[in-house]
Amino acid sequence: MTKTLIFIIFLFVHTSSLASSILLKNINGYTLNNTGKLVQFSAIQFTQDRIDKLFKATETLPISNTLTIIDGKGKTLIPGLIDAHGHVLAYGLSLVQVNLNDSKSEEEAVKRAINFHKNNKDTQWLLGRGWNQVLWKSQQYPNAVSLDEYFKDKPIWFRRVDGHAGWANSKAMSLAGITRESISPDGGEIVKDEYGNPTGVFIDNAMSLITSNIPEMPEKEIKQALVKSMQALASVGLTSVHDAGISSNELNAYKALTKENNMPIRVNAMINIGDDNIDQLLKKGHFYSKDDKLIINSIKISADGALGSRGAALIKDYTDQPGHKGLLLYNKETLGQLIQMAMNAGFQVNTHAIGDNANKLVLDFYEQHITNDTIRQMRHRVEHAQILRLKDIPRFKELSVIASMQATHATSDKNMAEDRLGSKRILGAYAWQKLFKADAVIAGGSDFPIESANPFFGLHASVTRQDNTNNPKGGWIPEDKMTLIQAFRSFTLDAAFSGHQENIIGSLAKGKKADFILLNQDIFTIKQSKLWKTQVLQTWVNGEKVNID
Ligand SMILES: [Zn+2]
Repeated sequence: MTKTLIFIIFLFVHTSSLASSILLKNINGYTLNNTGKLVQFSAIQFTQDRIDKLFKATETLPISNTLTIIDGKGKTLIPGLIDAHGHVLAYGLSLVQVNLNDSKSEEEAVKRAINFHKNNKDTQWLLGRGWNQVLWKSQQYPNAVSLDEYFKDKPIWFRRVDGHAGWANSKAMSLAGITRESISPDGGEIVKDEYGNPTGVFIDNAMSLITSNIPEMPEKEIKQALVKSMQALASVGLTSVHDAGISSNELNAYKALTKENNMPIRVNAMINIGDDNIDQLLKKGHFYSKDDKLIINSIKISADGALGSRGAALIKDYTDQPGHKGLLLYNKETLGQLIQMAMNAGFQVNTHAIGDNANKLVLDFYEQHITNDTIRQMRHRVEHAQILRLKDIPRFKELSVIASMQATHATSDKNMAEDRLGSKRILGAYAWQKLFKADAVIAGGSDFPIESANPFFGLHASVTRQDNTNNPKGGWIPEDKMTLIQAFRSFTLDAAFSGHQENIIGSLAKGKKADFILLNQDIFTIKQSKLWKTQVLQTWVNGEKVNID
């Protein structure tokens, strides 16, 4: 061994065992303090993954040769943002499958499929996601026929943007043995035309008729898609996300990534109650990786479908479809049993509920099964809490249940939601300020890839109730706007709280994790209409800069 090499090894061992600190100075820093007040600072010092100190502009900065000093060039620095509800694998796959988001017609969706297929001929199935017939002139569900014309022998499965319906071609249907005699399963629908023939669209529980034939992804591909997704999430300023319903295969992939030290951001993953191995997973209990990048302490249950596909369970008929009240994915008894089973196993229960009937039922079951303080302190959540009867709003505080809400759903859904619900019920929909007035905690999120993962879109929608063209004027149902501090809190401290992580993330303070982002503009002084344009310059997780280029 040469002398130089020995010296290099010595240097490496020496410096890595010496925990050198980093001082990031000359920044326009903001965080909430532990009383929820916005405070400012101009430098932050951290050692490895933990914050040592924040410095106010009036304080003298330390000088030491073990300190690495970085000049923040006056940029705005805030805690890393947290998305309390997204789908990491689905987002990763949306980056590598047919992307049908914002397609303007069924024809355009088919065209995108043809173009994608040109460069991806080897795939056994053609998979994709993102269509939304509400954005199409026809307002009609798509049909297998339009795909069959170009894809006779290759099975196709395209999920609707909300993941609550899918569009198959005839090849995929024949592999699944679907005929005009096929009967819709409970909590699902095989859509049929006026002659009784299946059209190719499958809603909620009927989707598995098709998806059970899609070959399982090998772990290597799951891992690649997860990493791709997490890198993209880091690039928009998310340092932590709650993955809303993972399978045991995804869980294994996450655990492998944790071991390989290949998790770009933190994930707080909810185990899907529908997983085949659920009994074992409940028995295994919680999981916390050493670096706090991966946490598992919650279970995801889905009570109903979504509003766009009229799968959300309403108490009264849909305004635009008399005689139809939506779908509960389980019968009431089973739903209650699942909630109780997950609570008794010591897990936080996060139940998807969109319609007012689903929300009422979930709150009823929570009330029934939250029988002591230990269970109450698990901070059970309602995912979406989208359409509430006004009288159910105070129950969140009463039961210590968190409303996990996605502001951009309101601005994307507004017209459709009014059609579905009418002018009276809409007042309990996306009712953020009404929930705050009733002292509820709202955890912010986006439900990516259904909506953009960009949390600045979420902050913007929260405070303006407008889309990115700043419409409608004055905001949609403006009395339910959040203040900027409320919105910021929902994407930081309260999202952290909703994942039992407020002691380590959600704000910047001594002893907490060095998770922060640098921005191109000061979100607390710019015009609120410009919030969504905010660009993330750097993302740091556990005191390390994430590669976001
Ligand atoms: Zn979701």
